[in-house]
Amino acid sequence: MSLIKNAIPKKAREGGHHPAKRTFQAIRIEVNRELDVIGPAICDIADSLGQKGRIAVITFHSLEDRIVKQTFAGLTGTCVCPPSFPVCVCDSKPVLKLAGRRPVLPSAEEIEANPRARSAKLRIAERV
Ligand SMILES: [Zn+2]
Repeated sequence: MSLIKNAIPKKAREGGHHPAKRTFQAIRIEVNRELDVIGPAICDIADSLGQKGRIAVITFHSLEDRIVKQTFAGLTGTCVCPPSFPVCVCDSKPVLKLAGRRPVLPSAEEIEANPRARSAKLRIAERV
C-alpha cells in the first residue's frame, strides 16, 4: 500500500481516499476483464428480456459507464455508421429504448450515508 502511495505524485492523489484505491480498482478491472464483458452481457440480457422488460445497470467507474452508454445507444437503434459514410448501412433496429437520457446519480444525502455510492451511475433501458 505504501509502495503505491509513494509512486503516485502528490498532485495526483485525491483528497480523502487512500491513493492505492484506484490502483487496486484498475487491477481488479483488468483481472476480471470487466470492461470486455459488460457490452456482451448487456446484449445477452437485452435479448432475453420480454417486451417492456427493463435492464438497469449501476457502474462505479467512468470507463464502465461509457461502455454501458454506448451499448445502450447501439441497442436503441441509433445509427452506428462512421460519420464519413454518406448513407446509413448499419440498418440497426431498436431492441431497447432508454428510460431517461441521463444516468441516475446518488443524492447528496445518499452519498453522506453511503460514501461508496459517490461514483455510482444508474442507467435503465426498456425492451421494445
Ligand atoms: Zn447506420
